[in-house]
Amino acid sequence: DLRLRFAPSPTGYLHIGGARTALFNYLLAKKEQGTFILRIEDTDVARSTQESVDAILQAMTWLGLSYDKGPYYQSDRFDLYKAKVQELLDKGLAYRCYCTQEELDAKREAAMKSGGKPKYDGTCRERKQPPAADAPFVVRFKSPQEGEITFVDRIKGPITFRNEELDDIIIQRSDGTPTYNFVVVVDDAEMGVNLIIRGDDHVNNTPRQIPMYTALGYPIPEFAHVPMILGADKSRLSKRHGATSVMAYQEQGYLPEALVNYLARLGWSHGDQEIFSMDELIEKFALEQVGRAAGVFNPEKLLWLNAHYIKTGDPVRLATLLTEFLAKQGLSTEAGPDLPAVVKTLQERARTLVEMAEGAAFYYRSEVEFDAEAAAKFLTADKRIPFEALIRHLEACTDWSHDGIVAAFQNVMDETGLKLGKFGPSVRVALVGCTTSPGIHEVVEVLGQTRTLVRLRRALE
Ligand code: GLU
Repeated sequence: DLRLRFAPSPTGYLHIGGARTALFNYLLAKKEQGTFILRIEDTDVARSTQESVDAILQAMTWLGLSYDKGPYYQSDRFDLYKAKVQELLDKGLAYRCYCTQEELDAKREAAMKSGGKPKYDGTCRERKQPPAADAPFVVRFKSPQEGEITFVDRIKGPITFRNEELDDIIIQRSDGTPTYNFVVVVDDAEMGVNLIIRGDDHVNNTPRQIPMYTALGYPIPEFAHVPMILGADKSRLSKRHGATSVMAYQEQGYLPEALVNYLARLGWSHGDQEIFSMDELIEKFALEQVGRAAGVFNPEKLLWLNAHYIKTGDPVRLATLLTEFLAKQGLSTEAGPDLPAVVKTLQERARTLVEMAEGAAFYYRSEVEFDAEAAAKFLTADKRIPFEALIRHLEACTDWSHDGIVAAFQNVMDETGLKLGKFGPSVRVALVGCTTSPGIHEVVEVLGQTRTLVRLRRALE
């Protein structure tokens, strides 16, 4: 029974890299019918905020990454960690360290000067008595000093560390709070996690954590360290490369399925296939096809995927999502044309919901907003002459369908001897306000009879 977890620290929003780690865990849990656990790693009380927790949960919900267990909060589990620290102290596998910051700084400096590694020298390993009865202390784990440690990473293959590189790391701070490397071991073990998929910024922590599993009598889980995400310039993805927050993409009008598809393909591949639904990802995802090299974030490709999902999306669902974007422009859809019908006219051209809202705005404005240049060119008195005939034929139209509207325009052409190319652009400017829009027949149909006639008449005033 596969048990996986995502363990974010709530010190900020959910970023692209974290979302991909969560996604890989989610996909594998679903595929193998395992359990996906969400654990909030908030032992760093000073940097953790409820706001960040909410932001992370919101982003996971938006992406559709539901979890089976949790969220668990490490801040609820301090008693457990205390007991486990005590267990290690009792077993002689951890010790209290009374070295002061000044002493540690001096040791570090001396070590650096002599060309050694700046690691703790183990002074307190052998100490029998505290220097003073009430002297503050941290608790350090007795890391193995000799030999090597090897684990087989499910993505990177075998990884070996020499134990002499391991520090006696602090597992409990002087204020009594436990540290990341320790609680992550206790929690993963206590929660029965047997495969840890996480970012490879943690790969150096793994050899520090493995001896703790052994010391606490826990089985050692498997590990899969996912390569980092880089920006186009091959440096680690950061704000310089654009938005890194998942929810910033929501605000920019991206669909969650586009971001999920993009993140899945960033570092994982399945032949040449680019488009994957969530169900397909669940069916096909495998750690064996996760690459070892870092993925380069490509905003154009994400935009291309988003355009694909907008083009092929269900108009009713897109309409629901679009409402919020129109509201941001101060536009209500209540009194206007049917929103799903509007969406259908824009799916081919809008690449984001923001673009779609911009394209849809003219349908819902009570007054057409004219582009001055377009109006000056296309709404001159002579260009408006055919409007009278058009108004007459559209008013008489009893079949407000595509065919009925095409027929009305045909009547205008027959009557005036003008081609559609002659007066179509002026009709468009009168109805839309500018020279770009969906096809003119579509616009008229979706706008509806009353609104179309009002706008044409207004243009004649
Ligand atoms: N809380 C850690 C982080 O957000 C992750 C720990 C882990 O996955 O082991 O980076």
